[in-house]
Amino acid sequence: MNARALVLFSGGQDSTTCLAWALQRYDHVETIGFDYGQRHAVEMQCRDTVLAGLREQFPAWAAKLGPDHRLDLALLGQISDTALTQDQAIELQRSGLPNTFVPGRNLLFFGFAAAVAYRRGLEVLVGGMCETDYSGYPDCRDNTLKALQVALSLGLAAPMVVQTPLMWIDKAATWRLARALGGQALVDLIREHTHTCYLGERSQRHDWGRGCGSCPACTLRRLGYAAYLANPADPADAVG
Ligand code: ZN
Repeated sequence: MNARALVLFSGGQDSTTCLAWALQRYDHVETIGFDYGQRHAVEMQCRDTVLAGLREQFPAWAAKLGPDHRLDLALLGQISDTALTQDQAIELQRSGLPNTFVPGRNLLFFGFAAAVAYRRGLEVLVGGMCETDYSGYPDCRDNTLKALQVALSLGLAAPMVVQTPLMWIDKAATWRLARALGGQALVDLIREHTHTCYLGERSQRHDWGRGCGSCPACTLRRLGYAAYLANPADPADAVG
């Protein structure tokens, strides 16, 4: 497909899989990451490690992989009083949303990403949002992002396509997608170098990756990897 994409890339399992998906699909791919005072700089370090690993191990993708953009969004700390940006316990709030919730965060991220994409001549935005797994984040929902696609395209007076390849698949299928895209080498790169744990724990190594093993993010990743191992090649998965 003759198109140029910008991937919202956090250094986690989902956005790394999306980056591989975009590299397989588009002629030119750039990445963007948002630094907003996450508890742990480890997430931003993982981005660099994953990008270096992709360049080293996948020459065809390396040829398409353009610059990485990092935006400092420290101002988000001023409008969000949550465990993601302050040292509070991570627990579910009565609303059912994790208190890591930053209201409308993805609306802001896509707005900034679209501005960068416009300036860089990129017309596709790719994000790892997903309705299937546990999160109740309303700004991750398919309808939200479809509406955003229309708003961005109108507001920029330029077509801006929002792609979310993980929207309707679960964590096990995300592992299968990674394997279909980049084989065991990509699965291993994701296991070893992407970061998911809410607590920023990297010293404990498991077969599914590094993390505390018990926070909600680790639990989701651990269970998804176990389901993937139990059924590593589900023919029902569509890779497009
Ligand atoms: Zn954890």
